Parts: sequence; C-alpha cells; structure tokens
Amino acid sequence: MFTASKPGIMKKLQLLSRDSQYDLACACGSDKSEHRTRGSKGKWIYPITLPNGGVSNLFKTLISNHCDSDCKYCPLNSNSDVPRCSLDCNELAEAFLDYYRQGEVFGIFLSSGIIGDADRTMEKLIACAEILRYKHNFKGYIHLKILPGSSPAAIEKAVSLSNAVSLNIETPGKQFLQKLSSKKDFLKDIVEPMKLINSFAKQGRRKVKQTTQFIVGAADESDRQIVDYTQALYERIGISRVYFSAYQTNNADQQAKILYPEQSFIREHRLYQVDFLFRKYGFNSSDIIYDSSGLLSVESDPKELWAKNHPEFFPVNVNTATRYSLLRVPGLGPATVEKILQMRKLSKINSIDDIGKVNARLLKASKYLEFAGVAKNKVYLFNF
Ligand code: SF4
Repeated sequence: MFTASKPGIMKKLQLLSRDSQYDLACACGSDKSEHRTRGSKGKWIYPITLPNGGVSNLFKTLISNHCDSDCKYCPLNSNSDVPRCSLDCNELAEAFLDYYRQGEVFGIFLSSGIIGDADRTMEKLIACAEILRYKHNFKGYIHLKILPGSSPAAIEKAVSLSNAVSLNIETPGKQFLQKLSSKKDFLKDIVEPMKLINSFAKQGRRKVKQTTQFIVGAADESDRQIVDYTQALYERIGISRVYFSAYQTNNADQQAKILYPEQSFIREHRLYQVDFLFRKYGFNSSDIIYDSSGLLSVESDPKELWAKNHPEFFPVNVNTATRYSLLRVPGLGPATVEKILQMRKLSKINSIDDIGKVNARLLKASKYLEFAGVAKNKVYLFNF
C-alpha cells in the first residue's frame, strides 16, 4: 500500500501538489493535450516530456504553501486566505519512493512558498533532497526550486544535490517585477542568483540543467519584451529551457486588469512556438514579427509569418538547399529536414511524395519548395 494513501500525508499532498500546478519550469507538459493535467493515480503526479521526446511522470509538490511574499499574481501570497500546510521531509520521501519503486514516476520536483526568508526555506528543500540522496540512496531525478534571494551557499548546496534547478524570472525586467512584488529585487534576488546557478552547475560532477519561467500577462509586458529576454537568457545565462505560464486568476478585480485576457493562453502557445524556433530552427529575436503593440500574431504561427514576410527567400530547392534554409520552410520540422538531407545523398528528390505521405504539413511545405531548377510549385506560392 502506498504511504501516500495514509490520510494525513494524502490530504497535504493533494493541497500542496495542486498549488504547484502553475510552475511549469519542471518540464511539465507545455503541450495543450497535457496542459497542467495531473495523473489519475495521485494528484501529485504530473506528465512531463523527456528530452528524447518520450513521456513520463513527475512527482511534483510544494513542501509548504505558507508564504511571506506578496506576489500579486500568485494565489498563495501572504494576503490570500487559503488553506495552508507543510510536509515533513521523511514522510514526503517515503511517499515519493513508494511511487518511484512501483515505476509510477521518474523523479521528483520540489518547490515551496517562502517561509520567513529564502534561506530558511532552502534549508528545508535541501534537507528533503538530502534525505532522498543520503538516507535512501536515491540516485534518480531531483529538481529543486531555488527561491529568489537565496544565498550563494544555499544555491551551491541545492545545485550539488539536483539534476535540475529552476528560479523563475517571472517578468522581462525590473520595471515589470516592481508592479507585482514589493519584496523581490529583480537583479539582486533573481538575475544574480541565476548567473551563480549557471556557474555552480558547470563545476559539479553531475550535469545540472537550469530552467526558468515567465508569467505571461500579469504586468502589461509585451511578447516582444519576453522574447528578447528569452534570447538573452539562453545566450548570456546559459539557461537550458525557458517556460511560459499564462497568468490565471479567479479574482474579478485582478482579471479585469489583465492585458488581453482572452489571449493569455494563445500568447503562451505562441511564445512556446518562438522558443522552439530559437532552440531547434536557428531563429533569433530579429526574425520574430509582432504587431504594433509588440504582440505575436494570434492568427498565424511565427514561422509561417516569417515566411510570408520573406517571399524573396522562397522557393527553397529541396535538392540543394542548406539545412538552415530547409528549416525556414513552414511545414518542415527538424526530423523531416534530416530525412531530406539523408534521402538526397542517395538520389534526387523529384516531388513532395518522395519525402513521405503527403499530410497537411507536407502540403503546406510544398508551396514553398522546388524540386529541380524550375520552381514547379511557384504558381501556388503566394496563394495563402
Ligand atoms: S514567492 Fe512564490 S509562493 Fe510566494 S507569493 Fe511569490 S510566487 Fe507565490
């Protein structure tokens, strides 16, 4: 029988795992089909997408939802009247290991509200990770949240115990965070610790990934500001992955203040598409097209919009184009481009059917491609 079926810890886990749902920086699915869903076997189990594309489950919970901070976007802030509780590290470790040994989960993600101050809370997160690593000899995946304002010593210790850590950046700059929190200092509590995490992560024996998350739509920021900051995080701080979480609130007054509330989830989706273009397609922030308010298009995905705005780039010749050029073609993803590069080493590609079964994506791609010296499909090119 799972320890987690014991009533005390089960009740706490239900509450604390529910309160961890908005944190996506643990690699919990950003795909719509798995969007913030939780498994049926326990509400603390969340699906995640593995680096190899497979799917597994993560045991994800806060160790406490008490919080002395006042982030306006967060339902757990110190002004909220919500049920509060904390977990004991030994109980938590046993509950998690029950699931791990049964093969139900692949690892654990631990976060917390700020109890007193950042370092006092980090002590508890670190203690839970130490119990897993040293008392139970757990060698699997641990992702620890680093709290804003943590000391270098706490960061170093947390990184040494983890496979991944995250400190949420929340906003693309100081001026936005100031609107949301009177306690967090953007540079001192968030950006400087992120740099420190990167430096400790490089020193350890274990490869440690650092991720982060923006809250989208809580501080009147534009998509352009988030995208520019995202690129800087990858290039200057060595972040492995950036996540985006649409701001959600049940509070009518706060809901009324959200800029473009009906677009929050579309914005989140478009930001993930841009992030994908950065990481997998060789795009950078100067390739991204916005409206006059600095927002991404609601109607078109950012890659297709780039193609529509660069007719001089097309058609791309399937048989001679570089990987870079093929990746610019709407409808061609990295796997299909790789397939084309391999196929054409063996023989000439004469038509879209040579590449594979013509589905909607390949049909779209065919409008931007030519197969020999002559642009066979050019006639369709601007007929969008
Ligand atoms: S520190 Fe974290 S838990 Fe506390 S109010 Fe801010 S976002 Fe919420």
